[in-house]
Amino acid sequence: KYYNTIEDMKGKIRVYCRCRPMSGSELERGCQSAVRFLDECTLELDTPRGPKSFAYDQVFNPANTQEQVFEDTKNLLQSALDGYNVCIFAYGQTGSGKTFTMTGSESHPGITPRLIDLLFKSSEALKGNNTITYEAYMLELYNDALIDLFYLLESHPDKVISESDMKITPFKAPKLEIKKNDKGMVVVQNIVVKPCTDTHQTLKLFEHANKKRQVGATKMNAESSRSHSVFTILIENYNKTTKKTSIGKLSLVDLAGSERAGKTGATADRLKEAQAINKSLSALGDVIAALSTNEKFIPYRNNKLTQLMQDSLGGNAKTLMFVNISPADYNQEETQTSLSYASRVK
Ligand code: ADP
Ligand code: MG
Repeated sequence: KYYNTIEDMKGKIRVYCRCRPMSGSELERGCQSAVRFLDECTLELDTPRGPKSFAYDQVFNPANTQEQVFEDTKNLLQSALDGYNVCIFAYGQTGSGKTFTMTGSESHPGITPRLIDLLFKSSEALKGNNTITYEAYMLELYNDALIDLFYLLESHPDKVISESDMKITPFKAPKLEIKKNDKGMVVVQNIVVKPCTDTHQTLKLFEHANKKRQVGATKMNAESSRSHSVFTILIENYNKTTKKTSIGKLSLVDLAGSERAGKTGATADRLKEAQAINKSLSALGDVIAALSTNEKFIPYRNNKLTQLMQDSLGGNAKTLMFVNISPADYNQEETQTSLSYASRVK
């Protein structure tokens, strides 16, 4: 492993690769795996030019469980309790397992529900000497517009909000602005911040807000894969002995699908979406690349996504990037693109 301790990875970005299993229909169609797993950090991908190997801090193969993935992730929680900014995000083409990894399902919960659960368990254990309070906000970044999901939840609890609704004035939420406070922390002005009181309430909040993602509600294809979602938990930890308060931030990001838009048959709306996604993911790649080569200038301001994540990438932040891939041979090209993107971090 490249980083042995959490201290070592301060300001660095760790990269985990996770390959999903072949789906039932892929097996039925006789798809072959284009990916082989060499050891816990290395995999090999068949490319038109022969096999190419890629190395990351950790490689999870299709047999690895949600528990195993979480086992390697959960140590970041202590950092957030200690006042660091922690950010976990998932990158990859649509259908590669980003949402499975970040959110999962009822029977196979992913990182977010597991972290929430552990968060409240940890604060229970620290209760004697610490007073810890949690607050959260959640937003969607779609076509360069920020959408406050808790606002939608509060203002229209029972309604599925369509894209055209969003254009009507009463549905328009207060304009969100990304700013920095005097401590250098990124804050989103006008966003609805809700208190988190326990595991169940926080999970429900996350679940219900997720349902308000407008792209998911209105477009049949690939649920919500055309927008980024950011769920942030603010952790205020007051130490009764030292009388000091630390504020940490835990951001969980499910990025939009990284695939190139189909050239044929794409509507104007689709192309616009694709361009916005492309721009934000390249901006993110540029920031990560600049950080990993220790450049002085980090181009955070090039995009709303990187502005939003500014205090969670580099500096004192601890960042974990998942690159999710498909094993199937017909996805080889996209898989190679994703693996190369993730390799820029090294
Ligand atoms: P994405 O969010 O990247 O578009 P999803 O997380 O929705 O992809 O995954 C696509 C499909 O593959 C879903 O049906 C999901 O349950 C399944 N899947 C993804 N990763 C795994 C995994 N590691 N194990 C089992 N099923 C998975
Ligand atoms: Mg998804």
